[in-house]
Formats: sequence, C-alpha cells, structure tokens
Amino acid sequence: MLPQPAHRGMLDAVLELTNTLTRAKEPVRPRTLGRLSMYTCGPTVYRYAHVGNLRTFLLADLVRRALKAGGVEVRQVQNITDVGHMTNEAFDRGEDRMLVSARLEDKAPAEIADYYTKAYLADAAAMNLEPAAAYPRASEYVPQMQELVAKLLERGNAYEVDGNVYFAVESFPDYGRLSGNTLDRLRAGHRQEAPDPRKRHHADFALWKAAGPGRIVKWPSPWGDGYPGWHIECSAMSLATLGEHIDVHTGGEDNVFPHHEDEIAQSEAVVGHQVVTTWVHGRHLLTDERKMAKSAGNFYSLGELAERGHRPLAARLLFLQARYRSPLNFTWDALAGTERTLDRLRSRMAAWARDPMTGRAPGCAGYEQRFWAAVDDDLDTPKALAVLAELEGDESLPPSARYTSVAAFDRFLGLDLAAEVGQVLPAGAEELIAARERARAGRDFAAADRLRDQLAAMGVEVTDTRAGTSWRLRP
Ligand code: AMP
Ligand code: ZN
Repeated sequence: MLPQPAHRGMLDAVLELTNTLTRAKEPVRPRTLGRLSMYTCGPTVYRYAHVGNLRTFLLADLVRRALKAGGVEVRQVQNITDVGHMTNEAFDRGEDRMLVSARLEDKAPAEIADYYTKAYLADAAAMNLEPAAAYPRASEYVPQMQELVAKLLERGNAYEVDGNVYFAVESFPDYGRLSGNTLDRLRAGHRQEAPDPRKRHHADFALWKAAGPGRIVKWPSPWGDGYPGWHIECSAMSLATLGEHIDVHTGGEDNVFPHHEDEIAQSEAVVGHQVVTTWVHGRHLLTDERKMAKSAGNFYSLGELAERGHRPLAARLLFLQARYRSPLNFTWDALAGTERTLDRLRSRMAAWARDPMTGRAPGCAGYEQRFWAAVDDDLDTPKALAVLAELEGDESLPPSARYTSVAAFDRFLGLDLAAEVGQVLPAGAEELIAARERARAGRDFAAADRLRDQLAAMGVEVTDTRAGTSWRLRP
C-alpha cells in the first residue's frame, strides 16, 4: 500500500536534496518505500551547544518534517559524543575536550557528559527539533567500535603501532570521493609538514589511541588500554542502530572532511558496499563573517539569547530565512527582526482563528502547492517563507482558509504559530480596540496612542497591519 500523505495531497511529490557525494540535487527515495533512515552527527557534550550547532541540527529536523509531510516515516538516530575527540582548537591544545572540561569544572567526565547531554536535549526541544528515535552515547558503543577495528585489522585496512591502530587510507581506493580530498591532492597539501613516523601514509587516521599517562577515561582492548578515535564512533553507532544501508546522513560542512570521509572508509571497508545514499551538509552559521566556534569565542548559546530577551523559535525563524546550503551571518538586528515577525504571525493566526469558519474551511490550494514545491526543492525555506508572507497579505482569501494553510505550513516550519489562538481579551479591551481603530480612521493619532497605552496597561499588545488591528496578550 502506498504511504498516505500526512497533510498534503501530492503523492508524487519528492523531496530533493543536494547530495555532497554526487554534488547534485537528487530525489530522496528511501530503500524501503515510505520508510527512511537518517543518521545525524550529534553534539559533543562538554559544553552548551551554540546556535551554530543548532542550525546544523535544524537541517536534520527540516529533512524529517519535509519527508513526514510527504507521508514518509523517518527513523532518525542522533549520536551523543561523550568520549572526547581530539581537535586542534586552541581551547584545549589537542587535549580531550571532555577531560579539559572535567578538570576545569572539577567534575567527573561522566557528570559533565550527563549535564550537557540534558542541556542539549532541552535546547533541541526549545528549538522544536523533533526528538530522534534514539540517542546512542559513544561511551556505550566501545565494544562495537573495537569489533570494527578488529575487522579492519583482519582485512588489512588497518595496522597497529605501539597500542595505536591506524586506518591505512591507501587500502581504500575510494578515499576522497566525498570531499574531493583524494590521496594525490592530500599528498600535495601535506608536503610541508613533518611526517608522523608512526604512520605509513600521512593521511592515515587513528581508529584506536593508546591511553597516555594520567588519562582517566580509557578502555581495555586487544591493543592495550586506550580510547576510540572520533570517526570510528560514528561508524559503529550508525551501523549498530540503523544497519548497513542508511538513506540520509546529515552534518555540518566541517564534518565532510575528515570526519565523514573517514566514516565512509571505515564502514565500507568492513561491509563491502556503499552504506549511506545521501549525504547532506549544512553551511556554517557565522558571526562577523567568521565561523561561529567555541575556539573563536564568537558563539552564543540559547541561554545567552534568552538573557537578551530572545526566544529560541526566533532563532529557528532566523535560520529558516536562509537556505541550509548558504552560509548565514548571525546578527542581533536580524534576530530582533524575526522576533517581530514571529509575534506578527502568531497574532494573525489568533485573529484568523476567531473566524467562525476556522477549522471547517479548506486551505488555499495554490499557495499550499507553491509552499511544498519550495520545501521539496532542496529545502528552499526562504522561498517557502515568501509564499507564507504572500498568503498572509492576501486579503481576498477568507481568514479561515488562511488559518488552515498556515497551520499546515507550521507543521514543517515548527514555529508554534498557533500559540496565541484562543486567548481571550480582558473585559473592556474590545471596546478600547474598537475606539482606537475609530481614532486611527479619523487620523487622531494622539488618541490612538493613549488607547494603545491603556491597552498595554491591561496586558494587551496591539499591532497595526494593512488588514486592520490585531492584538495579543503580552506573555
Ligand atoms: P560539535 O558539538 O562541536 O561536535 O558540533 C556539532 C555539530 O555542529 C557538527 O555537526 C558541526 O558540523 C556543527 N557546527 C559546528 N560549528 C558550526 C557553525 N558555526 N555553524 C553550523 N554548524 C556548526
Ligand atoms: Zn559523526
């Protein structure tokens, strides 16, 4: 039986996404009709997520919601990186980030990981990211990682040196297919660097690392006490939770190389065939035109946004205003703008809901068709929002029809646009609003302003739109 569309009548509509692997826009067709599997590279839980991270996680949520709207059931898995991975961020000078945080905060690494995992899940919920079916923690998949490492050694794709196990990139002919960093190109780029004497090829990467003295988080292994490399974590968790065929894999653009390139090499060397069909990568969120990053000190968490009076969903709307594959510069002015837009849309929805036909009226088919076409076209969210704005302003349509369509759009947009529906004006406020509209019509703006202040004192905020005055209760 064909899957039934959730709330749109276009069975033949197919979401297209830009596949990093083929560098082309392609229809997303799950291997199993109507059911899609998706792996999302998750957060490293040694600190709060910044809104740049959340932009990347939103991409996965949008893929999910777009597919769901087309009647496809999505099983999404998002890993939690609670075993620190080495980076060259200046912050930790190559130390394990989890361990540095544990030392700085005087806590056990597991406590740090628990705390920031909960914080991440709360942030994701506040951003209306639909929860994943599973959140595997890297620390719970170490046996599966070791199993993969053992298989790679067995097959001649890896070698051991002093308790470290490296993947031999020359043993995997497809290396570089995702990122374009083929071995020839890498060789040219690395000529200046002193070669690591333990590696056979400078691009070989660690699957397992020997624990140095003083390292608290480590596991026994056939190669001595140690801990896994970051890339093997994702191969192990994705194969263990979703199997050898995964329809979509998401991440940020910085994950393409080396993280995902190495994940492909590891997983495919073990299973002997292509694992992931579509790789989707979101471009970065920037501040002052530079990547938002912990190391650059130019990052904001949702907590910091809240301190400045901003709601998480205003950030969500800000991200929707750019397509996922364009970089986006974060500014406070832009965020203030989306706060206003969010308020306006919510009060419009509340006003349309007061139309007695609301709930019984069909939506506006032409607008809906254009909205979903934009979504299906590689998540063209700016275009989808433009369709919404056009519909909002189309006074030729009954409010009830606009309500129906925008409520459907919001199942994709995830902005809680019906949040103010059903609010009741305090006694006397309706008369003041009517009086204010009369004052405005008579161009008595001083009186209109006085009435606005009176309403504000009662907790009622009024906004003037082309279609008249709308109101909302102040939160
Ligand atoms: P991390 O917690 O550092 O492992 O990062 C989690 C995710 O956020 C990864 O998929 C990164 O690609 C992504 N990411 C990191 N910085 C940014 C940024 N400035 N904009 C968008 N995504 C980012
Ligand atoms: Zn990953």
